Amino acid sequence: MQEHGSGNLVGTLVDNRYRVKSRLARGGMSTVYVATDQRLERDVALKVLHPHFVSDDTFLDRLAREAKAAAKLSHPHVVGVLDQGTDGQTAYLVMEYIKGHTLRDVLNEKGALSPRLALALIDPVAEGLAAAHSAGLIHRDIKPENVLIADDGRIKVGDFGLARAVTTSTSTGTLIGTVAYLSPELVLGKPADARSDIYSVGIMLYEMLTGKQPFEGDVPIQVAYQHVHGTVEPPSVQVPGLASEVDELVQWCTASDPENRPVDGNALLSELRHIRTNLSDAELDLQPPAAHKENPSAASAVKEPGPRQEATEVVIGAAEPTEIIARTNNPTSVLPANIARTASFQAPGGAGLTDESGLPLQPLSKREQRKLERNDERARNRAAATPVRSLREGDPRRRGALWIVVLVIAALLATGAGWFFGMGPGSPGTIPELANKTVAEAQQLLGAAGFQSNTKDVFDDDVPSGLVVGSDPEAGKEIRKFQPVALFVSKGPQLFPLAEMTGKSLDQAKSALNEAEMALGPITEKFDETAPAGIVLAQDPAAGTAVRRGTPVSFTVSKGPQPIPVPDVRGKSQDDAVKTLEAAGLKAVIAPETVNDRSVPKGAVAAQTPASGTLTKGQSVTLTVSKGPKLVQVPSFIGKQADVAREALRKLGFEVRINNVLGGFFGTVRDQDPVNTEVPEGSVVTLTVV
Ligand code: ADP
Ligand code: MG
Repeated sequence: MQEHGSGNLVGTLVDNRYRVKSRLARGGMSTVYVATDQRLERDVALKVLHPHFVSDDTFLDRLAREAKAAAKLSHPHVVGVLDQGTDGQTAYLVMEYIKGHTLRDVLNEKGALSPRLALALIDPVAEGLAAAHSAGLIHRDIKPENVLIADDGRIKVGDFGLARAVTTSTSTGTLIGTVAYLSPELVLGKPADARSDIYSVGIMLYEMLTGKQPFEGDVPIQVAYQHVHGTVEPPSVQVPGLASEVDELVQWCTASDPENRPVDGNALLSELRHIRTNLSDAELDLQPPAAHKENPSAASAVKEPGPRQEATEVVIGAAEPTEIIARTNNPTSVLPANIARTASFQAPGGAGLTDESGLPLQPLSKREQRKLERNDERARNRAAATPVRSLREGDPRRRGALWIVVLVIAALLATGAGWFFGMGPGSPGTIPELANKTVAEAQQLLGAAGFQSNTKDVFDDDVPSGLVVGSDPEAGKEIRKFQPVALFVSKGPQLFPLAEMTGKSLDQAKSALNEAEMALGPITEKFDETAPAGIVLAQDPAAGTAVRRGTPVSFTVSKGPQPIPVPDVRGKSQDDAVKTLEAAGLKAVIAPETVNDRSVPKGAVAAQTPASGTLTKGQSVTLTVSKGPKLVQVPSFIGKQADVAREALRKLGFEVRINNVLGGFFGTVRDQDPVNTEVPEGSVVTLTVV
């Protein structure tokens, strides 16, 4: 098989629209390219599913989910998704192209960051997440690789590939994410909400401040274990002198119990800003000790070549096999059996550890296995523990809670379990098709099928306002009836006011359009006497008009002033010449000097500058007026030899005519006309010769 995604799309045209230019990054599931959108003449990022996943609906689903999740969001700190589709074997997602690098690159290069920089970088991430959380979405894969930093400093959260609506993030399903940033509740397969993202941000902040991740281990499971059983130590342990507020922020975000964390991105953001304004300059600019720059992906299993590398990514399977894990054949083979069995991280019957693509992680080498075996006794016992034992080793309160849960479940099982799972709220049902129905119809359909639903308003470009866009879980999915269903109700397309683009250059206007994710409409060119060529004279729709994303905006662009061919006015009288030039829109300037001209009569135009080519309105043409031909004195040659006379007269500029009498036998000038007078240069002088 051809190596998947091996840069082979570079140079090709995807869906007759996106010309692939170069590869940005490659992951387990997809490759990200820069491409030119030929229709809108702009660069975009194209995420292309590896071809062998295209036949697999679950991966297509995931791509579609990313598109939908991001489409619900339009926020300056969230990577905008522009389009999604398939072209033969290529399933793709088009995003705005963030030219730059990722937070991972920054950490690799700088190691630890000053608190000022770390807080400044986290701020837009928190803001982007706040927007997602307000829209009812959790990201579930916050990590430095997914924070994009544009060369111009814009910071955006990307990769909504794992995002879920909050309401559906119940305990079923697969726990996915990058082990280094995975919250304890996700590790344990419990419901997750916005606070799981906050945990990941906390881990990321710790890493930014100290240059290392709080939990490290040789294999992902060791890291996962620490998320559940450990606590993140204050970053000041690594960075002495760090302000206690920053320590507290990290610890607040990374609290084991979600109840003890900021409730969502908004809560985090206000605390973050409060801290930023209250720290002294010295505290903000505290230099971290010589940075730890080593690549944190010590347990990285999938290493891809390429300009950008992802850190360790792990999928931990839970009770039900789900979309992401579907391709995993023998996932437990990826780890020594004793560790893969570690049940605190894996619900019974679940899949094992896989990379994000759902492919098994690479098996450990013999050397790594031996190293693991040499690990201290305690770690091995932990690793081999059953779920119950591993929980028993936890704190006593947790142990108590566990027993209560076990007793309640036992009681339920003894009494109502049959009813509960058979026909009650625990029975399964299939979500009906709801798109384009009214809310009332949709709710009625759901109600009839035994589901509870809640509504969420979302922008949608296609579905008319007030109708249902879709649901989460989607139509056709089978879930238990007690699980809530979110109905996404269209509030019509999201409208954005158009910026003023007149007065800008066409290039600037195009990039402003690009920035605003509008499309370029037809361009009309027009002469304009004041605006230089290439300046936008008018736009349609006008500035301030609220339009939906992708609306074509047409421009009228200046071609500069209209060229006027210079009329030839030589030979015309001065008055006529001036009138002709003024009628053409030009200015006539009369040169102070007049000139003699044999052929142009006095008072007419002898010369003009310029005499040809084009000028623009109001430019001037200089006219030189003739004072007629020069007057020259004609001396007398009477009695002189005709040859001599003719030569001398020619030199004076006259035209000589000879009138021979008697055959001109003597060659002597007998008569001359005119003679001894002033006549215009070039006049004819007649010599009568005998
Ligand atoms: P995956 O699901 O494979 O992790 P991501 O969406 O995170 O895919 O993209 C992988 C990498 O590709 C990112 O870490 C980043 O380096 C690059 N990338 C992704 N989207 C963009 C974008 N819109 N602009 C520029 N680079 C991007
Ligand atoms: Mg990613």
